[in-house]
Amino acid sequence: MKEIIMCYQGEMALKGLNRATFESVLSKSLRWRVKDLGKFQVYKAQSTMYVEPRDEEAEANMEEAYDRVSKVFGLAALSRAAVCDKNIDAIKATAEEYLGPILRNLKTFKVEAKRADKSFPLKSPELCRELGGFLLSKHPHLRVDVHHPDIVVMVEVRDYGAYVHGPKVPGAGGLPVGTSGRAITMLSGGIDSPVAAWYMARRGLALHHIHFASPPYTSQAAQDKVRDLARLIAPYTGNCVLYVVPYTTPQEYIRDNAPDVLFTVLMRRSMMRIANRIAKEIDAKALVTGESLAQVASQTLYALACTDAAQDLPVLRPLIGMDKSEITVVARKIGTFETSILPFEDCCTIFTPPHPKTKPTLAEIEAAEAAMPGLAALEEQAAADVERIRIDMRDQKQEDDLSELEDF
Ligand code: ATP
Ligand code: MG
Repeated sequence: MKEIIMCYQGEMALKGLNRATFESVLSKSLRWRVKDLGKFQVYKAQSTMYVEPRDEEAEANMEEAYDRVSKVFGLAALSRAAVCDKNIDAIKATAEEYLGPILRNLKTFKVEAKRADKSFPLKSPELCRELGGFLLSKHPHLRVDVHHPDIVVMVEVRDYGAYVHGPKVPGAGGLPVGTSGRAITMLSGGIDSPVAAWYMARRGLALHHIHFASPPYTSQAAQDKVRDLARLIAPYTGNCVLYVVPYTTPQEYIRDNAPDVLFTVLMRRSMMRIANRIAKEIDAKALVTGESLAQVASQTLYALACTDAAQDLPVLRPLIGMDKSEITVVARKIGTFETSILPFEDCCTIFTPPHPKTKPTLAEIEAAEAAMPGLAALEEQAAADVERIRIDMRDQKQEDDLSELEDF
């Protein structure tokens, strides 16, 4: 029996003339995601992408391939299916072999059929009846329930074969990464920013990340945690680069030369300016942050207006209207939460005054910056000294494997 992954397109299907571009990016992503798991063929027929194992290694890795494909943006749904010849006897035998063991433990079922290949002699209702009757004869304890069945057995008769599968499961949704251009995420070690990156990658943005580190106030462990977070979301975002900016000198300069109550907003503006420089170098068209309205003093509308005015790229804040509890649900779902809550310091939390101003005005911020003539050069130097760390989703796996070995 041959198994295959069927991938159903979501929103992309509505893209009219651009659809071919979206599909080509999607099939590239799919191909790339399963590349190291054996020989897979990825192809499209009748608006569905197929990920088909073509050697034994690929067949043995179907579970992992399925997991990876479920994280590819652009897919509304997917299913693992058994493929067989387009004749009713083969369909019956395949359905029994593939889903029989599951049916044994259920009480009710129904069959749904789709006959995309109109040359197939049985119409969909006839196919349902034939297969349903056959499965009932094999599993006499079962009952047909068309409204609330324990399982829907699906048969799709398409161009290249007949496909038998259980219910489709939701895919990662959104649009294929890269179809909306490129942006840069401001990635801290917190809960919010990896979730923000996930949301924007889901809208088709290819992301690189930037992190500000202030050694010795922030440790190597804190920086490694950010690298780990970037790796954890790489199955969604694809491979990327984490830019680590040595931010100690500009940060100390602001601490020593600006009013305490404005420190955080001044620092955030400074970070945005550096991010802007690096974004322009890599042709990124926006900055992404994990800010959420009024979460902290630097995220009031007044403070955000001041940070927005610091540079000229759009700042995308996908979490702006979300509560922390909602953000946490997503962080758990995408697997970043446990790493995010590891207790390491972030440069945003050092030197913070006890009572930051929640309603700063741009005029007072600009006046404070005018009193820091040395800041621009320090920012330029920090941007020039940036360290580039390559993030590959597969490194995560290797590290896991190593840690398992060390346990023995
Ligand atoms: P998270 O850092 O995930 O938001 P947080 O709430 O502790 O958790 P904030 O201090 O609220 O972080 O920072 C707001 C946003 O600023 C972050 O979401 C992130 O986009 C950006 N940011 C904060 N610190 C850094 C940093 N050290 N490097 C890069 N970006 C940062
Ligand atoms: Mg935050």
